[in-house]
Amino acid sequence: MKRRLILLAASLCLALAVGAGAAWAFPEAFPVVADTLVAAAAIAALLFILPKRLALPMQIFVAMIGGIVAGWGLALAGQQAFVIDYLGIFGTLFILLLKLVITPLIFVSIICGVAGIGDVRRLGSVGAKTLAYYACTTAVAVLIGLACVNAIRPGVGRESLREEAAAARAEGADEARSWGRRVQDDMLPKIIQNPIMAGQNPLAIIFFALFLGAALAAMEEKAAPALAVFRSLDKAFITLVLWIMVLAPVGVFALMAKAIATLGLGYIATLAKYTLTVVFGLGLHFGVLVFLLCPLLGRVPAKRFLRGMAPALELSFSTSSSSATLPVTIDCAARRVGADENISSFMLPIGATINMDGTALYTAVASLFIAQVYGLHLGAEAQIMVFLTAVLVSIGTAGIPGGSIALMPIILAAAHIPVEGIAIVIGVDRFLDMCRTVVNITGDSVGAVVVSQSEGAMGAGGQAP
Ligand code: ASP
Repeated sequence: MKRRLILLAASLCLALAVGAGAAWAFPEAFPVVADTLVAAAAIAALLFILPKRLALPMQIFVAMIGGIVAGWGLALAGQQAFVIDYLGIFGTLFILLLKLVITPLIFVSIICGVAGIGDVRRLGSVGAKTLAYYACTTAVAVLIGLACVNAIRPGVGRESLREEAAAARAEGADEARSWGRRVQDDMLPKIIQNPIMAGQNPLAIIFFALFLGAALAAMEEKAAPALAVFRSLDKAFITLVLWIMVLAPVGVFALMAKAIATLGLGYIATLAKYTLTVVFGLGLHFGVLVFLLCPLLGRVPAKRFLRGMAPALELSFSTSSSSATLPVTIDCAARRVGADENISSFMLPIGATINMDGTALYTAVASLFIAQVYGLHLGAEAQIMVFLTAVLVSIGTAGIPGGSIALMPIILAAAHIPVEGIAIVIGVDRFLDMCRTVVNITGDSVGAVVVSQSEGAMGAGGQAP
């Protein structure tokens, strides 16, 4: 306690000294320096007051609530720009650190997973079950989405949204970027980036890793040296993730505050019915996965699953990225819930890339909602088009924040819905992105449990983080 007090006091003094020096040397940059220091002091205070006795999931949860309160309170006090531009730096930093590990982790863990499954016939059965499970659950998700939006009809009678959305979009487009925003958008991503596989398409990496893993499996004991290297690298990446996860409460706090400050509560209220329809559909699908599939096919009670996956679920909610959450998802599914390690290492990286139940459901609801706002009546044929393209788009969507928005025009164009209608839903996209990402990783993890069970490889789980 005493050491922490001294550390806090020392970092605050250092921050003040740097700030005073900078204000004296560069008076015109003073507000920027002051904002950065205030943000750093807020984070230091958060770290200080966060009870260290709490387990990590609970710490993340407390940080999440703290972030919501801070984001809302500061936005009410007119400090929205401070939250987004300066507090946001810590959220960006956290996501970038996680991203640093993703690509090599996908590569190495798929190789270890495929080679670990060993017997090529067993690999075939796990592969076939994986694809069948992913295809069926995604189809169910889209059907749930279509049923909800057709039953609730959130867009009917809300035609006024069209102009409002266009105005909000124009406003945000050409504002000058602050120093904090430039740090988040330009500086940090240039420094914190994995040098080996930067910018690689994850599908290409998965494809290569699958083949290399299968070749190593076929070589049997001759592959042992290479496999030993990959296995120890796999452990090293997981260690790296655990280190980064120590910063999770800070990252989650900053990300939540930024999300709430960006969205504001007023705009959400205008789009409440639409938001509720999506959340209701996502909730239904989440229920099917966790309370039906998991206990019935995976033989894992919902409580054990939810408790084991809690850190990953919270992280996916605050990062809106199934890719960034992937290392934690693998760790939770295998060690805490008890899914087979090899099957998890094989299925989850693939799932994070191609299996997005929440995204599929969301894009279907959003498309029909836009059609309703435009007063279009979509018949069976157009809805089948939405169904098919939503499934395809969810496969192609990158597991990053807002990944599916970039592909939405494909669905809209296929069903002859005006593409500019995206502006109508963009205002609440971030919040719904958080919710759908939770469902995305839940779909993947329940899959790992179900397939592990069907292969007779389910463990006891229950290991602490
Ligand atoms: N953010 C989602 C994910 O990472 C993708 C999306 O639907 O935009 O899973």
